[in-house]
Amino acid sequence: MKQILVLNSGSSSIKYELFDMDAAGALESGLVERIGEGESRLKQTLPASTPKSPSQSRSIEVSVPDHRQGMDLIRRALSENASFAGGQYLVGIGHRAVHGGETFSGPTLIDDHLIRTMEELVPLAPLHHPANLIGMEVARSAFPEVPQVAVFDTAYHQTLPPHAYRYAVPQTWYQRYGMRRYGFHGTSHAYVAKQVARHLGRPLAELNTIVFHLGNGASATAIRGGVSVDTSMGLTPLEGLVMGTRCGDLDPAILIHMGKESGMSVDQMDGVLNMQSGLKGLCGANDMREVLSMESNGDQAAALAVEMFVYRIKKYLGAYHAVLGRLDAVAFTAGIGEHSPQIRARSCSDLETLGIAIDPVLNTAVEPPICEIQTSDSRVKVLVVSTDEEFEIAEQTLACVQS
Ligand code: ADP
Repeated sequence: MKQILVLNSGSSSIKYELFDMDAAGALESGLVERIGEGESRLKQTLPASTPKSPSQSRSIEVSVPDHRQGMDLIRRALSENASFAGGQYLVGIGHRAVHGGETFSGPTLIDDHLIRTMEELVPLAPLHHPANLIGMEVARSAFPEVPQVAVFDTAYHQTLPPHAYRYAVPQTWYQRYGMRRYGFHGTSHAYVAKQVARHLGRPLAELNTIVFHLGNGASATAIRGGVSVDTSMGLTPLEGLVMGTRCGDLDPAILIHMGKESGMSVDQMDGVLNMQSGLKGLCGANDMREVLSMESNGDQAAALAVEMFVYRIKKYLGAYHAVLGRLDAVAFTAGIGEHSPQIRARSCSDLETLGIAIDPVLNTAVEPPICEIQTSDSRVKVLVVSTDEEFEIAEQTLACVQS
């Protein structure tokens, strides 16, 4: 048996998931949250032993002052799981890492050189990289004998051509400061594109797909033959679609103007555009379920927020259709993409001339993990796919440690 442990270290939490790679299934998942905040907690979930039995969860309150002790707690929790068998089958640990800059275009073994390079990239991801680095450090000391791999959210998009990744600003901004499109949600887009090809029984290399990852953060990617050729997030995850609390596309002059007129500092504007904008800025709620229910109760601001959300998706759908030329499939994934028939239907309304039409009955009867929802005469397949970023990280980690 080969097992891979996937870790996602944030500033106050460590999420983990243990996979049996031969069975392609999870053996345990959990998280330590509120690290260093006084009331820390370990949540642990063991999957159902049979398809009909429920999964088992437990939550224990425990003091976890720092990530090192958080990692110790995870190691102890795992060692209580008989399937873990003292770690004898653990062949690799995969770490979710946010920003690989131009240096990392695939999963990479973690060594001192990688850590130093990631430290140099901290200015590109000042909130995420320090937390990712702490996670790597504590996992390396907790499991010194196990190879560890960094899987970057940006890596999948390193195939973008220059005309898609450069911004039309002076060359020196790119050369000296790295100002270019990097794109994010790469593991999700890569996973979904593969699932679509597998489901349709077509080689990935022949399929042109647009993937919409619509969670609290949201992004679209144009994928030609399995390769990302354009994506909506940019230097940071702020660009592109309207999101829960992020603005998405914006005229950059708004920042200049607001800086002059409102007296807001750069940091304050950063906070507003990342945390107080998007659906939340438009109608006061960032959770799409709440926004949709406000809309159905007659809230005009919520109605406008949803209209802007789906309109932006439709604009990217049209743009990426043109980028790809021939379009075979559109896939919706993540919280909103997987669970909201309404958002899928409204994003794809009146697109028959592009060969895209959703069947209203299929759209409301979606069965995970993957399902087609187009009408019988829609030229383009439309699919709803359950994303599994952790499993994709596990697969990439296994491939990296075996190579
Ligand atoms: P994250 O980006 O935090 O991982 P998720 O992928 O879990 O987010 O997506 C969260 C979003 O999915 C929230 O806006 C939530 O309201 C939305 N969502 C979840 N279920 C539904 C549903 N049934 N209908 C509409 N939106 C939903």
